[in-house]
Amino acid sequence: MKVLVTGGAGYIGSHAVAVLLQKGYETVIIDNMMTGHLAAVHKDSVFYEGNICDAEFIESVFEKEKVDAVIHFAASSLVGESVKDPLKYFRNNVYGMQVLLETMYKENVEKIVFSSTAATYGDTDIVPLTENLPANPESPYGDSKLIMEKMMKWCDVAYGIKFVSLRYFNVGGAHPNGNIGEDHRPETHLIPIILQTALGQREQISIFGDDYPTEDGTCIRDYVHVLDLIDAHLLALAYLNKGGQSDIFNLGSSQGFSVKEMIDAARHVTGKEIPAQIGTRRAGDPAVLIASSSKAKEVLGWNPTRTDMKEIIGDAWRWHQHRPNGYDE
Ligand code: UDP
Repeated sequence: MKVLVTGGAGYIGSHAVAVLLQKGYETVIIDNMMTGHLAAVHKDSVFYEGNICDAEFIESVFEKEKVDAVIHFAASSLVGESVKDPLKYFRNNVYGMQVLLETMYKENVEKIVFSSTAATYGDTDIVPLTENLPANPESPYGDSKLIMEKMMKWCDVAYGIKFVSLRYFNVGGAHPNGNIGEDHRPETHLIPIILQTALGQREQISIFGDDYPTEDGTCIRDYVHVLDLIDAHLLALAYLNKGGQSDIFNLGSSQGFSVKEMIDAARHVTGKEIPAQIGTRRAGDPAVLIASSSKAKEVLGWNPTRTDMKEIIGDAWRWHQHRPNGYDE
């Protein structure tokens, strides 16, 4: 089976390609290299550099490669940036999906697995979050992903294009081979920032608020290992191949860790001091976000096995030690 992986040079996309190839799939990567890295492009994959919004380019790839299914990661994904520049998010994400679906329809490709987000739920007190809760995004990023889900829903109704939308919670960890991992510029995510502090690249980490209504006052999130996350994508492909109906699934580990607990776990894994100070709250951060992943487990047969925080941080630490400057030599 030949799978088109959009955004295959990014953090999650590169892990998807590695696992797909290892399991015997053929892969075709599309990436515009705005946030992707050439060194993250798997040498055994076909690769086209170009933009998801460029209809001519996308069509030419579909015509040449005759893919059987799409896994769609290519998107802009920073909540804060999306508030400042919403049109960037509607162009790259929403219009990108428009081009992709038009091409899939034209070329008779009828299966898509989509990288969605817990940001579709918005600020809520409900724990854990289930897929049937009303979606009420608080940012253009969350809204763009919700609109993309709706576009796929109506393309199923009209053209029979089947989709699985996977709503990610907090993704962490790296491939244990240490060759691919998280490298965002600028880095905003908690685990890489903690580990860059452990490496001495940052003097300290700022904890964004300790006055939340949680036990230690810091925000609680649900962290899932990137390889467990990718397993769910392969199960979603298998589900669609078997004729499964279009659906939406949360992907989290269903356990919550506070920011302070994450820093402590990283101190334990790395043996480093990791200085931390309490800073102000970051706008738009809900106190607690925890997934119910029962539906993915029941329907897709998902069984996340790397749920120990020491494994998630340990694998990320291996990557950061191996490539302290990320993909730069
Ligand atoms: N966080 C923090 N300091 C940082 C980066 C993140 O305290 O330097 C907190 C952030 O407020 C949130 C959690 O860590 O509660 C996870 O943040 P991240 O940006 O990794 O993911 P998000 O939950 O925003 O998707």
